[in-house]
Amino acid sequence: MSELLTFFQSHQQAMTDYLTKLVSYETPTLDKPAVEALGGFMESEFKQMGAAVTRYPQEKVGDFLLAKWNADAPGKPIMFLIHIDTVWPIGTLAERPTRIDADGKLFGPGAIDMKGGITVTMWAIKGLIERGELPNRPIWVLMTSDEEVGSIYSEPVIKEAAAQAGLVLVMEPATKEEALKTWRKGVGTYHLDIHGRPSHAGNAPEQGLNSVIEFAQQALKLHALNDYKNGTSVSVTVVKGGTVFNVIPEFTSAQVDVRTMTARAWGDIQQVMENLTPFIPGIKLEVSLHHARGPMEHNDLMKATYAQCKQIGESYGLTIREDGSGGGSDGNFTAHMGIPTLDGLGPQGDGLHALHEHVVLASLPRRATLLAALLKDWKF
Ligand SMILES: [Zn+2]
Repeated sequence: MSELLTFFQSHQQAMTDYLTKLVSYETPTLDKPAVEALGGFMESEFKQMGAAVTRYPQEKVGDFLLAKWNADAPGKPIMFLIHIDTVWPIGTLAERPTRIDADGKLFGPGAIDMKGGITVTMWAIKGLIERGELPNRPIWVLMTSDEEVGSIYSEPVIKEAAAQAGLVLVMEPATKEEALKTWRKGVGTYHLDIHGRPSHAGNAPEQGLNSVIEFAQQALKLHALNDYKNGTSVSVTVVKGGTVFNVIPEFTSAQVDVRTMTARAWGDIQQVMENLTPFIPGIKLEVSLHHARGPMEHNDLMKATYAQCKQIGESYGLTIREDGSGGGSDGNFTAHMGIPTLDGLGPQGDGLHALHEHVVLASLPRRATLLAALLKDWKF
């Protein structure tokens, strides 16, 4: 048990109140005014805590904010990555109000994803300020608001900021065993548009080019790319084709969910997808990639980054574990760029995007301690 941990444990109730306050703002990604309400609260918090704040105005989603402490201090910044949007529509809170059960779990929409992560970020910095221990190094918090729709607007902002950082701390939830996430699969959705030629199925079937039959052959080819043992999956998940029963179908579209553990496998699949050629002469194939996040690899850089985190955490009396996820986060972007990245730094809990979504409140002080310790002791 460290003194820093004792300090944050003595603030557990205040952190719980803070989390409850954040959950009280309902922030579905595409409801800009609702998200701006929390954005406004965050901005005033950042400023009150002494940060310089830059705003990135957005049309469709809540504005992004970049808060900086000690901007002129030497060394590369440590950058927290948080998103204030959730998957829950307005009204969820009225149906499922925030509650704390007898085991000290706080239930509420967006509690674990990721208002708990925001809570520990703010408290790690607040705590260090209160103790007069905020280290003289650049500390950044990049707040986005579109993670739950694939960071379609924030991706370039995240990449630009991350390129200047020496360490990126992604505040997505820990696992339910409180483990960090030191790998995430690459995730992407390929869209396949297949253009054939329509024809009457009775009068002139031979004059048609059947896009469904073309799709069927492509689907089998894609399915054969699955390599579950090595973490590669290629799943045809959506298909739409044809119009009416007596017409050879001109158009078929499909979506293919691709996931890989390594950058190499990611590139291999990309190669195959970009070079698909039609089985049926005359058919036209269009392939495009959407919502792509390359893998956060469990490579040497990740192993070294995690090893330092574990060593620092343990020196403050914490137990540090690692695990991974088949799903992506904004950490995929930064890790894929080769920037040292730690993910799953939010509190312990479970039920992301589900009805049993909750935060284990006792983990809030532990995570705030870990973050504060990383800020104090991290060496590049
Ligand atoms: Zn999240």
